[in-house]
Amino acid sequence: MIKVVVTGAAGRMGREVVRAVSNTPGMGVVGAVDPGHAGEDAGVLAGIKPLGVAVRSDLENVLRETAAEVMVDFTTAKAAAENIRVALNCGVRPVVGTTGIPKEELDGLIRLSREKGIGGLVAPNFAIGAVLMMYFAGIAARYLPAAEVIELHHNQKLDAPSGTALKTAEVIATARGEAAVEDRTELEKLDGARGGTLEGIRIHSVRLPGLVAHQEVIFGGLGQTLSIRHDSISRESFMPGVIMGIKKVRELQEIVHGLDKLIFG
Ligand code: NAP
Repeated sequence: MIKVVVTGAAGRMGREVVRAVSNTPGMGVVGAVDPGHAGEDAGVLAGIKPLGVAVRSDLENVLRETAAEVMVDFTTAKAAAENIRVALNCGVRPVVGTTGIPKEELDGLIRLSREKGIGGLVAPNFAIGAVLMMYFAGIAARYLPAAEVIELHHNQKLDAPSGTALKTAEVIATARGEAAVEDRTELEKLDGARGGTLEGIRIHSVRLPGLVAHQEVIFGGLGQTLSIRHDSISRESFMPGVIMGIKKVRELQEIVHGLDKLIFG
């Protein structure tokens, strides 16, 4: 059985992870960390039967006492970076969905994992459909280099734009190479009306109650547009990717960035 510790176990994603891992043969939740809910049973919090796993606040002790193999983290950017460091120092493989970890910090953690020879996964989007959306966007950008990204999320999301939108813009920028794209907005009458820009690609963030996680990439060409859209309509959509990550990190020698690396190699 793959022994999994869940950090952020009382959060929206953490509870979903506790349910998914508990329902998957060959793996189980052996520890749970979420300082605001210390003492509560992780299973009860997740709306399933009691697991006999009390939520705690001392990650390092939990990892060592449970002899965990994998830590799944859905917390905050600041907490996740520290949790990854603790996991690597304990020889535990991190599978991380938390977004907003600064690039330099993530690069440092990837280096640390390489030095230690410990596999891990940091994925800004665990929905397999979203990974395909980014892949298709990379193909479209070779032929239609003008593109804008619109991402839409629930209004509790802490960071903007989403990690997926940033990653999509990087994919498009790489695929279109030097192709010149004209953008004539000279006067922005309302700050931010044209969104934020990454490598010349505009990203727009919508935050509303009722949404989960959605993204549309619109490509424009002569007399035509192409829209590629993905919708996560429930948080369950992320679980097959998380379970795949838990199984596959054992084969990796360092932290990889993006579920695409596991799907497409
Ligand atoms: P959430 O409901 O706020 O859950 C985060 C949980 O982590 C909270 O219970 C929080 O406790 C807890 N926490 C904070 N610091 C901690 C620490 N040091 N150790 C352990 N637990 C800690 O947020 P969410 O909606 O689940 O999202 C969590 C993250 O996942 C966000 O970065 C979000 O963008 C990302 N996300 C990624 C994907 C993906 O596919 N990769 C999908 C959805 C969401 P307090 O509330 O007491 O601070």
